[in-house]
This record gives sequence, structure tokens and C-alpha cells, in this order.
Amino acid sequence: MPVTGRLAPSPSGEMHLGNAFAALLAWLSARAQGGQVVLRLEDLDLPRCPARFSQGVMEDFRWLGLDWDNDPVYQSQRFGYYEDCLSRLAAQGLLYPCYCTRRELHAAPTEASAPHTAAPVYSGRCRTLSDAQRAALELQGRRGALRLRVPDKVYALTDGHLGPYRANLAQEVGDFILRRSDGLYAYQLAVVADDAAMGVTEVVRGRDLLPSTPQQLYLQEVLGFPHPSYCHLPLLLAPDGRRLSKREGDLSLRALRKRYPPTELVGVLACWAGLLDKPAPVTPRELVPSFSWDRVPTEDITVTELSLS
Ligand code: GLU
Repeated sequence: MPVTGRLAPSPSGEMHLGNAFAALLAWLSARAQGGQVVLRLEDLDLPRCPARFSQGVMEDFRWLGLDWDNDPVYQSQRFGYYEDCLSRLAAQGLLYPCYCTRRELHAAPTEASAPHTAAPVYSGRCRTLSDAQRAALELQGRRGALRLRVPDKVYALTDGHLGPYRANLAQEVGDFILRRSDGLYAYQLAVVADDAAMGVTEVVRGRDLLPSTPQQLYLQEVLGFPHPSYCHLPLLLAPDGRRLSKREGDLSLRALRKRYPPTELVGVLACWAGLLDKPAPVTPRELVPSFSWDRVPTEDITVTELSLS
């Protein structure tokens, strides 16, 4: 089957080295298999993702030498499609409104803590509300989030890079939110809906999203979508062990673009990815013939500014 990989940045700020690392590897993996690459701007939370950030991310990708084969897809323009997906789930009786406030969620006595994420396992408090109870809460002005019922069942995958991973959804995750009470569509819904609509067959992304994958497998199942393959990447860490983030302004692509040519930066990323023995100027295209997942480390990578000299 022809491979379609994807670049799926969240344009909520300037792109940093961690985003560039993930994008380079997603691009290389697809191109090395002769595949297509599609681009999606994950700007669901539009007030936090102004258009100039989307433009900036695309400029950064082009500057690095990463191209794509579609007209960019903006999640902020696809709310009607997400609503259709919700209707299909509602028709199966899989959705219910949840009126819990943040405080109630954290105070619920039956909660276990999800082992892989900071989020508590949802207690199911609003699962069995009667129509009358729901109406009474709505009358008080409460607005419900929409939760997806999950089964007491293990969802497992073999990650193409990190190996087996599994989670029992009821016990380790709980019913999860697909649309927030303020109307914002959840990442889990949008990512699954769009990967299917865009024909994505291969997902390459940071390992921080590995724990979301069983939820996404389940959503694909109940929406009747195919499962893409998954390869999760080690994270780039700052010297103090924290994950590189948009807060590390000096490692933003915009700042680095002023100091280094793109080939030099790609060389450093390729070296961290195990694709070069030492940093040397290179284009993404030149890395395609020798790309192999076997060379990419599985342990997180600590980066210092010194690596860029
Ligand atoms: N938009 C997410 C990010 O930039 C990636 C989501 C995904 O790959 O599933 O981290």
C-alpha cells in the first residue's frame, strides 16, 4: 500500500528544535518509502493559534527543506466534519454529557491515577445521569462536555520504533472528552478524524503521544476508520532534563535561522537521529537514501547549545 506520512504541527507558538526533529523524521520515513507527505495545521484552539504562527511553521519547514504534497489542512476549518463524527458516535450511544467541574473531577473518590498520564482516570460520575438530572443541571446554566464511553478492554499496538504498548481503557484512561463544555473539539477526536480523511497510513511523532494511541485506536474502531502504523520518537531534552518546549526561545527555529544555514541545522538533527556520525551540512533529501529506523535512538536525547557550534 502506498505510504502517506504527515506533518501535524500545533501552531501555538514558534516552532522549536523538538518540533523540527519530529517533522524531519516523519518526512524522512515517508519519503524513504517513496511515500507522500501531507501537512495539517493543528490549530483547533484558534485564539491560541493565530494565522501568523501557521505561516511561520510553514516557512520554517520550507527553510529546512521539508515539502508536502497537499494544500495545507487547517483543523480550525473542519468543525462541521468533527461534528459529523460526533453524530456517528452519538448514534451508537457512545457519548454522554459530563457536567463535572475541574474541582469535582479531582475530588472524585473512586479515581485511580492513570499510570501514563497526569490526568486522573474519570470516575464515570456523569455516565448514569437521568434525562431529568441532565435537564436540571442545564437549567442551572451548566454546559456539558461530551465524553466517549470506553470499554473495559485492552487496546494494544506494536510501535514501529518503541515496540509493544497497551492500555486498558476503562481502567487506565476512563471515558474521555471529545468536545469540551466551551465547544472546543478535543485533540483525540480531530487527530483521528483527520488522519482518516487525509489518508494517513503512517504516524511519526514524539513518544509523549504514545499513551494517547490506545484511545486513538479505539476511536478509529468505533468510527470505522483504518489504523495507521505508528512510530514514536525519543524526546529532545534540555540539559536540566525538561522537555524542550516553546519556552526555550533561544532554541526556536526563528532564532536559530538567524545563526545557522538550514543544512547545518539539519545536520545536527540528523546526528541526534543517529543518521550521521557527526554533524555535517546536509539536506533532508540527501538523507533519504540512507534513512533507517534502526539507526534512530530509542532513548531521549539531551541537547545543549554546544551541539550547535
Ligand atoms: N500537533 C501535535 C504536536 O505538534 C502532534 C499530534 C500528533 O502527531 O498526533 O505535538
